[in-house]
Amino acid sequence: MSGQMADRPGGYLTDAAIRGGMNKLAAPGIIVARCNPFGHGVGRGGDRGPKHLMGGLYSAAYEGAKKWYCPRPVDGRYRMVCQCDPPHRGQEMPLCYGHVAQIGRRMSGVCPPCVMPPAALELHQRINGAQAVVTALMRRGASREVVAQAVAEVDGLSAMMTELVLRGIAHKCQLTLTEVS
Ligand SMILES: [Zn+2]
Ligand SMILES: [Zn+2]
Ligand SMILES: [Zn+2]
Repeated sequence: MSGQMADRPGGYLTDAAIRGGMNKLAAPGIIVARCNPFGHGVGRGGDRGPKHLMGGLYSAAYEGAKKWYCPRPVDGRYRMVCQCDPPHRGQEMPLCYGHVAQIGRRMSGVCPPCVMPPAALELHQRINGAQAVVTALMRRGASREVVAQAVAEVDGLSAMMTELVLRGIAHKCQLTLTEVS
């Protein structure tokens, strides 16, 4: 899971390069590095809103209805990191100190991939499917034995989900905003 989000050193500008670049590019009409906590698209075509927040750890729904931009320049690059070993990491975000404080306070929640790892997601979908079978059988007027069998399937899958939680495979893991060095 964390493999595809691996670090790509050298793929990013250094802070010094960004700051140096900003001084040079401070002329009117030229875009400077801006704090971008919500991943709004910039440049040609304009903004269509973020697909994901925090490097994909949150859906865009977390942003709320109001779209806004931060006018402040970037003070550093940050990413969300969870407490697992190896940790899940979000994408790097260029942020101002104001947003570092705000996001650190309000959005450092539980790591979604830890709460719902692939095994739990698959089980969750199988439980939904099994529940749909029960509903369909009942609507069709199937015999009590057949319905009971389908209910037992749901119960079995639910017990497997409980097992995932008890074994800590699906767990709540704290996310923290960490500066990228
Ligand atoms: Zn900001
Ligand atoms: Zn995690
Ligand atoms: Zn975790």
